[in-house]
Amino acid sequence: MGQTLVEKIISSHAEHDVKAGEITIAKVDVCITQDGTGPLAVRQLQKIGLEKAYNPKKTILYLDHAAPSPRKELSNDHMLLRNFANKVGAHLSDIGEGVCHQITVEKYLNPGEIHIGADSHTCTGGALGAFATGMGSTDVAIGIALGKTWLRVPETFKINITGSFLKGVYAKDLILYLIGLIGADGATYKSLEFCGPTVNSMEMTDRMTLSNMAVEAGAKCGIFPSDKITKKYLESVKRGDKWMPLQPDNDALYERVINIDASKLEPMISHPHTVDNTKTVSQSIGIKIDQVFIGTCTNGRLKDLRIAAEILKNKKVHAKTRLLITPASRQIFLDAVKQGIIETLLKAGGTINSPGCGACVGVHQGILGDGENCLATQNRNFKGRLGNVNGNIYLSSPATAAITAIKGKISDPRKL
Ligand code: SF4
Repeated sequence: MGQTLVEKIISSHAEHDVKAGEITIAKVDVCITQDGTGPLAVRQLQKIGLEKAYNPKKTILYLDHAAPSPRKELSNDHMLLRNFANKVGAHLSDIGEGVCHQITVEKYLNPGEIHIGADSHTCTGGALGAFATGMGSTDVAIGIALGKTWLRVPETFKINITGSFLKGVYAKDLILYLIGLIGADGATYKSLEFCGPTVNSMEMTDRMTLSNMAVEAGAKCGIFPSDKITKKYLESVKRGDKWMPLQPDNDALYERVINIDASKLEPMISHPHTVDNTKTVSQSIGIKIDQVFIGTCTNGRLKDLRIAAEILKNKKVHAKTRLLITPASRQIFLDAVKQGIIETLLKAGGTINSPGCGACVGVHQGILGDGENCLATQNRNFKGRLGNVNGNIYLSSPATAAITAIKGKISDPRKL
């Protein structure tokens, strides 16, 4: 019997061929923490006297969730992480560099590798053809110190995508549709393996959006083959030498196959307070929106900002709505400045925050008021996610977010 993508990658990091369902020990290539989870990992290592990094060049401690720090307690945690990185020789990605998952793909992760991170959206790295998964702080701490971890090899759902997206419909709409279809726990501990003609020509930024949200269906990872698109992306970030081809075997065993025709999709909206509470934009038209937030590891990349800028060019954000924009990384911010995207968004009335998680996790840069509605391009809309349990969060693509910012209520990007 052939192997799925995750079976191939985990086999190459264990001491034998593995099959879905098996529990094994595997070497890890890239370990990350962020400023919410990193302090716990570091304190655990200090407690057990294991303050070291097995592979410091591939250990990255990010300051991105509360960056710059809005409180002294968080500032002290940032100091702890800076000191630990300095002591063990690991990378410290300081404030303003951007979101951990974006930078890990830009700088550190390669196809065929195993990547663990103390953050649930570590699955973003699956876009590169790596096995990337989120774990608790203590598991990642041990991965950092010893260079290995334990894993249960996930069963795989094959997500076969055909057809072309219609105008106004994007990868974000596809993943919201899929999560609505299978539910927030529909793929618990599975690997979502994306394939099909649409995937074969899908650019890396869109692959990252799909992988990023795999965990919102409960999945262990969301993974793509490593192909010519992967090669082109790695060349663009000057890591072309790290490319390797990776495809599942034709006779690999899948637990479930889901076919989606992208040409049949509409723009989608997740309504409060769960990601799988999805409706089409047609069913959501007219809901008043107080704040629009474009950014995050899901949709804060250059293409996302460009789509928003094209819609907002020579227009103004609605007088009763505010627009927040947070580039996912410093490089994206720089590119968006160079291309005039930031100027367009500023002239339209947008507020630009420093690269990082921005408002996404609800500690700063866009906390909602009581009863306010936000339409965001992020990946989660749980109660309180934007810092106020009395706020309501809707999720959409950047295009739907941009037209909504102009109209002040949820609007259809196909009507532009
Ligand atoms: Fe988590 Fe949001 Fe930051 Fe992504 S942008 S890592 S979802 S807080």
